[in-house]
Amino acid sequence: MWKNIIIHPKKCTGCHLCELYCSFHHFKINNPSRSRIHVVRSEPYIDSPVLCIQCGLCINSCPVGAIIRNKKNGAINVLIDKCIGCAQCVFVCPYGAATIDPVTKKALICDLCDGEPECVKNCPEKVLEYVDSTKAVYYKNLIISKLLKKESVPLEPYPK
Ligand code: SF4
Ligand code: SF4
Repeated sequence: MWKNIIIHPKKCTGCHLCELYCSFHHFKINNPSRSRIHVVRSEPYIDSPVLCIQCGLCINSCPVGAIIRNKKNGAINVLIDKCIGCAQCVFVCPYGAATIDPVTKKALICDLCDGEPECVKNCPEKVLEYVDSTKAVYYKNLIISKLLKKESVPLEPYPK
């Protein structure tokens, strides 16, 4: 079964280790700007990782077919030799999860480290969890339902 990474944001301390493990795994360098996961701080001092949810929306946005889904593990894979760095995937991603690598000038999208995500393995606070897709869907539903409850406005009667 395919798996997804889910986030327990309340546990995040903002240490940025996930970014370092990500860039080191792919490029043998500790450089957050070359990471596929990004720890974002919102006021007042709330840190949370933001990462690709493997939705696949970017696949069709790529004009040269450089983004594919890995049939083995469901991960999004960028074919580096094909990518022309046009950033269409960056514009289309609703999560800000796709970026352009500052060195190669090609797309950077989480590939789940071929099924063994380094960020999950190395987060000291266990903020990230690599779970079966069914469990991931449940968590996504839970998040949306909590957001709707928080942001909802009382509905007025529909005008006649
Ligand atoms: S940056 Fe690369 S992967 Fe992204 S849409 Fe352009 S060619 Fe495709
Ligand atoms: S990079 Fe964005 S659009 Fe592409 S699969 Fe990940 S979350 Fe979806």
